[in-house]
Amino acid sequence: MQLSGVGVSPGRAAGPRVLVAVGLPEPAAGPAPDDVEAEAGKIGPAAAEVAALLSDRARSATGEARAVLETTALMAGDPALVTTAERLVRERSLPSPRAVWDAAAEFSEALSASGGYLAERVRDIADVRDRIVAALLGVDPPGIPELTSPSVLVARDLAPADTAGLDPDLVLALVTEEGGPTSHTAILARALGIPAVVACAGVLALDGPGLAVDGDSGTVVASDGTVRAVARTPRATWDGIGRLADGHRVKLLANVGSAADARAAAEAGAEGIGLFRTEFCFLSAPEEPTEARQREAYGAVLEPFAGKPVVVRTLDAGSDKPLAFLAMGTEPNPALGVRGLRIAFDRPDVLDRQLAAIAGAAEATGVELSVMAPMVATAAEAAWFAARARAAGVPRVGVMIEIPAAALCAKEILAEVDFVSLGTNDLAQYLFAADRQLGAVAELNAPDQPALLRLVGSVAEAAEGAGKPAGICGEAAASPALAPVLAGLGVTSLSMNAVALAQVGAALRAVDLATCREAAAKAKELVGG
Ligand code: PEP
Ligand code: MG
Repeated sequence: MQLSGVGVSPGRAAGPRVLVAVGLPEPAAGPAPDDVEAEAGKIGPAAAEVAALLSDRARSATGEARAVLETTALMAGDPALVTTAERLVRERSLPSPRAVWDAAAEFSEALSASGGYLAERVRDIADVRDRIVAALLGVDPPGIPELTSPSVLVARDLAPADTAGLDPDLVLALVTEEGGPTSHTAILARALGIPAVVACAGVLALDGPGLAVDGDSGTVVASDGTVRAVARTPRATWDGIGRLADGHRVKLLANVGSAADARAAAEAGAEGIGLFRTEFCFLSAPEEPTEARQREAYGAVLEPFAGKPVVVRTLDAGSDKPLAFLAMGTEPNPALGVRGLRIAFDRPDVLDRQLAAIAGAAEATGVELSVMAPMVATAAEAAWFAARARAAGVPRVGVMIEIPAAALCAKEILAEVDFVSLGTNDLAQYLFAADRQLGAVAELNAPDQPALLRLVGSVAEAAEGAGKPAGICGEAAASPALAPVLAGLGVTSLSMNAVALAQVGAALRAVDLATCREAAAKAKELVGG
């Protein structure tokens, strides 16, 4: 049987299927064990096994991943959790998995009540709890299992931190039942060059030892599990300068989130960095990194672009990218809540420390710095951010246009800042009221929707009127088919993951501005699907 999803990262691969286990359900409170002492005695060894495995993994990890694994290992080895669970087995005659579950709940409640840093540890407790319960039940713990041979990963969806840790040598392809073309799972899969299909309904239930995945057509079929060579889209040739056939310039820049991304982007010939997602450096940091630590992390990313233009985005935390150290409360609609720049209104000190670290890293690496804010809704917000960034010594200040209100007020916003960058991933999500991570509404988030293109065109027009640049750094910029349309709409740069640069560069080189303008006019008129 062939399943269809949305191909979000090109290439084909086949291999054994490895399921990413979903969260464990609450274990049953019965039947009561025959021998409570023997039942209680199972908990210590299970916790020790989990702690040893996590310590092992920490030793072979680096950076934040290592820090997180070390913390989790310590927690798994904490005797307090084990003794509480043992007590619950004895006092309430609970089976050991349920006793661990309830003991973890007691700990979590106590931590939540103490607030701040300790409250953030609740998610680690849940992770440790699931691992110990899984060990007691003899099932796989949730999350990405440790791969020892090349495999095709299948998941309901993946957290950005999970995807960021994937090893492209071991992950042949990635298929998720949920997720959309602009979800961070899709973006990171592309950045890592792993063929991927998202929004593939039914894939979790597909029988067979293996899967064959086509990241171009979005199809997935059951296979015998044999590993077949990955077919990647042949690389187009491009000379490293973004321009049309008639010489009209459209700068081709890179989206990066780590030093490895930046090195890959520099090797692929990016003219600069159009979007540095700084939150990706600290997805699992338990505490706000110090200014010095931030300076070091940003410097490592900026270094390959010495002497070149770079756009650093201040933290875009919240919604699909929660940051542990910002202790975000729960919100009914996180995508519409306190995220991006909105967090800085409450915590300007965090923004100021970040701006200082960015300015320091830029000076140390000799890049041509611009800084922009995410999730700006009004001209007043743009002015607030610009004042703070200028006070920190940032020479060029911009904002992202990713909220329809900001697109409609582009002229007023451009009066406050030096440039704008269109975040078409969120702009589409908010314009169509369609969750960018939800497979069921993936079509509405397609970057060629006429309503989205009309909005992009109006922002580009406002920027031209103001004599300031308007680039695109959403995933729309990574489509070779759409690039001429975007150039025709008047955008001045396209920023994308390194893997897309050559193909987009080659597509632009094949057309002149008049052809692009015609294509843009046509694309704006088509009736969306
Ligand atoms: C966007 O929304 O288009 C964007 C580039 O930002 P992010 O994907 O990080 O939300
Ligand atoms: Mg965004």
